[in-house]
Amino acid sequence: MQIITDIKKIRTIIAQAKRRGQSIGFVPTMGALHTGHASLIQKSRRENAVTVLSVFVNPKQFGAREDFAAYPREKNKDCLFAKKQKVDIIFYPSVNKIYPRSFLTSIKVDRITKTLCGRFRPGHFDGVALVVTKLLNIVTPDVLYLGQKDAQQCAVLKQLVRDLDIPVKINICPTVRENDGLAMSSRNQYLTPKQRREAPVLYRALRDARQKIQNGERRTARVIKHIAALIRHNSSGRIQYIECVNADTLQPLQGLRGEVLIALAVWFGKARLIDNIIVKI
Ligand code: AMP
Repeated sequence: MQIITDIKKIRTIIAQAKRRGQSIGFVPTMGALHTGHASLIQKSRRENAVTVLSVFVNPKQFGAREDFAAYPREKNKDCLFAKKQKVDIIFYPSVNKIYPRSFLTSIKVDRITKTLCGRFRPGHFDGVALVVTKLLNIVTPDVLYLGQKDAQQCAVLKQLVRDLDIPVKINICPTVRENDGLAMSSRNQYLTPKQRREAPVLYRALRDARQKIQNGERRTARVIKHIAALIRHNSSGRIQYIECVNADTLQPLQGLRGEVLIALAVWFGKARLIDNIIVKI
């Protein structure tokens, strides 16, 4: 495995691989790697000759009062993890390399960045769009691997790639969960033991809601109320939002129909946890 911090250097290595006719799979992350990330890596390894993993905690996707400083940074551990997963190239740029002092460009994706998490994290998805555009320009992969756990991020990046004609295929991988159903996340590290015991209620509530819909419930408000009640009764979590939206456009649904994304964000102490489930009606 090669650990690369320099943009020119990674470009050279990738150009060489492409000359050999090798396909490039790309897994962008913010590090603190876990089994969720590993599933993306393994998917890429199965489908490509070369797998590139990037680790970059992107300052432009954190709000002023968010956890940029506290976000876990575990370079040695991540490199070992990536090596075990047989990643070919790990790209580990510094903030200065990605955003030199002279940097002036921004990217704005409308509408689908404004619902769900976007309502509470203004600018977040524009920061994601910017860094992913830059990383795609550097790595020029054939396939970009993303996790369904971050459903809105997937929708925004699909839109970005379509709008800007970026020549990359997007492959969305299922959410990897702990045995008790909690979606794996680097932010789970912030949970106290009590909060960790409570947090699986999020997925239980989502599954329960799916069952309700499959049993015939079509009223959005009822579904949301049911999820909220389960979370409130079984945990100390503070609900930021619970929404039922169209899975493609992320726009709110009055009556439930088509492909419905049920998504939520709940605070457990310092940890803001997100999760979602798709129900096909
Ligand atoms: P992050 O490091 O949290 O920015 O995540 C990097 C990539 O891994 C994103 O595409 C995430 O959606 C994906 N990812 C994070 N957690 C999981 C999980 N539990 N299951 C599947 N993919 C995940």
